[in-house]
Amino acid sequence: MFGWFNCRLRIDLTSKTIEREPIGEEILRAFIGGRGLNDWILFNEVPRDCDPLMPDNVLCFAPGPLTGTSMPMNSRCEVSTIGPHSNILGDGNGGNLFPYKMKLSGLDQIVVTGSSNEPLYLWIDNDTAELRDAHDFWGLDTWKCSDKLKEIHGDDIGIICIGQAGENLVRFASVILDKYSSAARGAGAVMGSKKLKAIAIRGTKKPDVADPEALSILAKEDRNFFLTNPFQKGTVSRVGTHYGLGSWFPGWRNNSKYLSKDEVPAQIDTEAWKDYEIKRAACHTCPVFCKDVYKIPDGPYTGEIGSAMEYEGIHCLGINCGILQPSPIMAMQNLADKYGMCVIPLGNCMAVAKDLCNRGLLAPEDVDWLDLSWKNDEDQIELIHRVALRQGFGNIIAEGEIGMDKILGSDSSDYNDQVKGTGRGNFPPGIFALAHATSTRGADHLRGRSWAFGENEIELFEGLVRDGYIPSDDVGKLVASEDACALNDCIGRCKGSVNSWVNAVPLVWKYPLYTGLAKILKAATGVDFTEKELSDAGKRVYLLELTINALRGIKRKDNRLVQRPELRDTPQGAAERQQFEIMLDDYYNQRGCNTATSIPSREALIALNLSAAADALDKNHPETWDGPPLWPLGQYPSGGERS
Ligand code: SF4
Repeated sequence: MFGWFNCRLRIDLTSKTIEREPIGEEILRAFIGGRGLNDWILFNEVPRDCDPLMPDNVLCFAPGPLTGTSMPMNSRCEVSTIGPHSNILGDGNGGNLFPYKMKLSGLDQIVVTGSSNEPLYLWIDNDTAELRDAHDFWGLDTWKCSDKLKEIHGDDIGIICIGQAGENLVRFASVILDKYSSAARGAGAVMGSKKLKAIAIRGTKKPDVADPEALSILAKEDRNFFLTNPFQKGTVSRVGTHYGLGSWFPGWRNNSKYLSKDEVPAQIDTEAWKDYEIKRAACHTCPVFCKDVYKIPDGPYTGEIGSAMEYEGIHCLGINCGILQPSPIMAMQNLADKYGMCVIPLGNCMAVAKDLCNRGLLAPEDVDWLDLSWKNDEDQIELIHRVALRQGFGNIIAEGEIGMDKILGSDSSDYNDQVKGTGRGNFPPGIFALAHATSTRGADHLRGRSWAFGENEIELFEGLVRDGYIPSDDVGKLVASEDACALNDCIGRCKGSVNSWVNAVPLVWKYPLYTGLAKILKAATGVDFTEKELSDAGKRVYLLELTINALRGIKRKDNRLVQRPELRDTPQGAAERQQFEIMLDDYYNQRGCNTATSIPSREALIALNLSAAADALDKNHPETWDGPPLWPLGQYPSGGERS
């Protein structure tokens, strides 16, 4: 085979067995790679009623057919599981060296099942794979763990690992790739529940491609675009996602309002971060260099170096928590990376806690006498330690957005903007609110929301709409964006740090919609995908994800509009809900779902060759969804080294 190795590595941690198996041409063609391949495993293998932190949950890793080829921006890996913060699909996409090394070891997918009683790590050296004792690694943060693995196995390896947060089953713990890249939605906690500390890989086999010459020409065109395009070269390569501070309206103090460009304080605006930058960095094979490498100039972490401080860290750990000084924000970002936690739910939960303290709804003794006033960064940093180590009030935040709401009650849920376990703010009806509601992994900006405006490449986007490749109505634009992003997460390419169609769909600046991608996949895999097949692949992945969630009880009411209590009981609030429900009807009609339940219809599933999904929906499955099953707080592991 070309492009793919047609190889899945299965690790059963209960029996300690490791097996290789073919994935099958039909499945590769239908799901392509990455997110699609992982969804197919989760659909088939995870029991509908499994507790995400129990051994019957499954953890999947998959790059894509372009990973390891001459195409740029391809060192990306999809990490998928049932999210312990949400009890629905939880997947994240991370990049650096690990995905590239994984592909070069001859693997298209790693599937981890069961759980071990003792800490282990997986060592893969091309064709050999073995489970090794990880007692010496348990309790270490991700940076120390990565350094130690390199001491043992050498520098030419890719590493994915968890920190203390994953070990302690913090429900939004991430897996960290090569120290500075994170794949979120709780995979770190699932890895911790399985007692798998890390996967380290050496791979040296380039995948064969069907037409190396053609692929090389297409890759060159794609690479040249990013090296010469004024926005990519002049902005993204220079400031990365810091660009968003001036254009994405970050939420202020638990999203009480959204800051315009002029309102973002100068010391943390786009250009300010250049003062702390010591160089630029990129994922392996990427010409964009969207990431910074920074050095903390003062405070308790003076001189510490970190990388990939993104807009989300500045927004969620900083602005939304009322912290406006760069040094503590960098320190908090580093702590999140070291402990292995996603900055979005971590920041959101801390912002909610601060908001509740500020409103007098949480008393000082409720939060261990920490001073959670808006401007106090020292106690916020202390809280991060306590979350990762599950100590005191930190143990409540470690339960994630839904868990925290359940423990603290309606005061918390009133000011917590989460949809299906992840918060992205409260917005009136429109594309933002609809996209947050329909995202298959909880409210999210990367499922399609940020593409549905054609952000950053407005002319190109308008051209695609004008020529009929993308629908002209808002709901249709969102559906098309969700499909394109799903497809992108399958091929093994980065959607781009600064969201744009030119990142998500290769060569879309030259050929309409999927024509360029079809050429690339033909040169890489030899498969002559039609544009319709590619479009269907994106739809198939999305509908399968809606099915996975429906099988866990998700219904229309869960795909909701976030409204704060001040608005909820007013005529305006009622009118906005009505407007939102009209858009949701339209969305379900366009997706082929039942408008009353949100469940995909048999006809829509069969049209995409998903009869197994249609059959599964006909059988018994939970009638309702109520978030993750929470454990008694004293039952979780806690502790580990303080970072
Ligand atoms: S654009 Fe940024 S995040 Fe994406 S592959 Fe390149 S360096 Fe990595």
